Amino acid sequence: MSINKSMESIISLCRRRGFVFQNSEIYGGLKGVYDFGPLGIELKKNLRTSWWKAMIYDRTDMEGLEASILSHPKVWAHSGHTDGFCDPLVECNNCKKSLREDKIVDGKCEHCGGDTFCKKRELNLMMQTQIGCLSDCKEFAYLRGETAQSTYVNFKNILNSSFKQLPFGICQQGKSFRNEISPRNFVFRMVEFEQLEMQYFVNPKEADRWFNYWKEKRYNWWLAQGLLKENLKFETHSEKDLSHYAKEAVDISYKFLWGLDELEGIHNRQDFDLGSHTKNQKAFDIQATVKENKESTTKLNYQDVKTGESYIPYIIETAAGGDRGFLALMTEAYNEEKLPNGETRIVLKLKSHLSPIKVAVIPLVKNNEEILKISKDILDKIQRLNLGRVSFDNTGNVGRSYRRNDEIGTPLCITVDFNSLETKVVTIRDRDSMKQIDLPIDDVEKYLEKYFKTDLSKEKQTGS
Ligand code: ATP
Repeated sequence: MSINKSMESIISLCRRRGFVFQNSEIYGGLKGVYDFGPLGIELKKNLRTSWWKAMIYDRTDMEGLEASILSHPKVWAHSGHTDGFCDPLVECNNCKKSLREDKIVDGKCEHCGGDTFCKKRELNLMMQTQIGCLSDCKEFAYLRGETAQSTYVNFKNILNSSFKQLPFGICQQGKSFRNEISPRNFVFRMVEFEQLEMQYFVNPKEADRWFNYWKEKRYNWWLAQGLLKENLKFETHSEKDLSHYAKEAVDISYKFLWGLDELEGIHNRQDFDLGSHTKNQKAFDIQATVKENKESTTKLNYQDVKTGESYIPYIIETAAGGDRGFLALMTEAYNEEKLPNGETRIVLKLKSHLSPIKVAVIPLVKNNEEILKISKDILDKIQRLNLGRVSFDNTGNVGRSYRRNDEIGTPLCITVDFNSLETKVVTIRDRDSMKQIDLPIDDVEKYLEKYFKTDLSKEKQTGS
C-alpha cells in the first residue's frame, strides 16, 4: 500500500541521503541555488547520458556542442535578450511583495491572497559578470540565459565541419543563468540551472511536420524515463502566450506536487534565430520579424546541394530542464509503503538506468575475513562490468543497508553470508518486490549483465 507523498518528504530525503543541499548552507544559504550531492550528481548524470544517447547516439542526424557559459554581449543584443528577456512584475498592494504577473493564479497574490496589484515593471533576467581583474574594468559579459544562442552562433562552424545536410540537429547540455524574481519549489525554479536543449534545423516547408515529430519523441522519452502518462500533459501555447519568435509552441508539463508545470518546451522558432544573427539579412527572405544586424561577420544560410536553393533554416527547438527532470523523477519514484509488519518503508522506484547506485554488495557481518574476501571479489567483478556505481555496504547491519538502498533507489542488493562460504551462493534482493533469490557466485555477472542490459535496451530507455 502506498502513502501520500509531499514536497517536504522528498526534500528531506534529498538532503538526508545526499542528493541535494542548499548552496552555502553554513552561511545561511543562497536563494535559488542548490548543490547536487554524491547521489544527486549520479542521477543527473544518468539522466543526461540517457538524453545524449536518445538524441545523438541512437541517431545519425545530430551533433553535440559544449559552448562556453560566457558569451559576447552582442550575441544577447541580437538575440533580443538584452531588451526583451523580461518578466513583467507587479507589486501586491497588500503585502508589497513583487510577483510575476504571468504566474498569478486566479487573480490572487501567492504570499497573502491579496487581489489588487500595482507598479508594473520589467525585470531583465540576464545575469552579467565582469571580465578582467581590475576593479574599474568596464568590460562585461553575460552568463548565458539559455544554451540555445551559442548553438545558433556556431551553426556555420558545425555545418562546415561535420558536412551535415538538412534536416539535422545540434544538442547541448549545460548550465544557464537567470535572475528569476522568485526562485521557488526547490530545484524547479533556480537562478543557476541545467538545460538539455536541441535545435533542429529544417527546410521551412517541413517545419510543421518536424514540430509534431519532436513533440511525440520527447513525450515518449519522458515516459521511458519512468514518468507516468497520467502525470504528463501537453500544454499548447495560445496565440497570445506565444513568444514573439515562435510560430507554434507546446510545453510538456508534469504534475508536480503543487500542480501541472513546465518540464520541457517544444518550439517552432521559424527563421528568427539564424535570421537575427546572420550577416546580409536583406539577401534572404526572412519570415520572422528580426532586428537589423550590421555586426555579424557570417551568413547563416543553408545551400541545398540538390536543388541549389539557399535559405535561412527554420528551427524546431526542444528545451528541457535537467533539474526539473530530476525533480519530476524523484517525485514519480518516491513511495512510502506500509509493510505487513506495520512498518513504513520509503522506496525510490527509479528505472535502473537512472539509479545512482546500480548494485550494493553487503557482507552480512563486518569483521569476518572470509566473508569480506568473497564480497570484495564480487564487488571487483561487478565494477568491471561498467554498469555504473556499485557500493560496498560494510556496516554489519543488513536490515539498515536494505532500508538505505531502498531509499536511494538501488535496484539490487547482493548479500554474502556464512552460507556463501560453504555453498558459494549469494542472495540477490530486488528493491521493488523485496523478493530474494539465491544465486551461485559464478552466475552473478551473467545475471547482472542480463538484468541491466534488458533495462538499458534502446526501446526501454529512449521510448523509440
Ligand atoms: P518558465 O515559464 O517556467 O519560466 P521558460 O518557458 O522560460 O520556463 P525555457 O526558456 O523554455 O523556459 O527553458 C527551457 C527549460 O529550461 C524549461 O522547460 C525548464 O525545464 C528549464 N528552466 C527554465 N528556467 C528555469 C529555472 N529558472 N530553473 C530551473 N529550470 C529552468
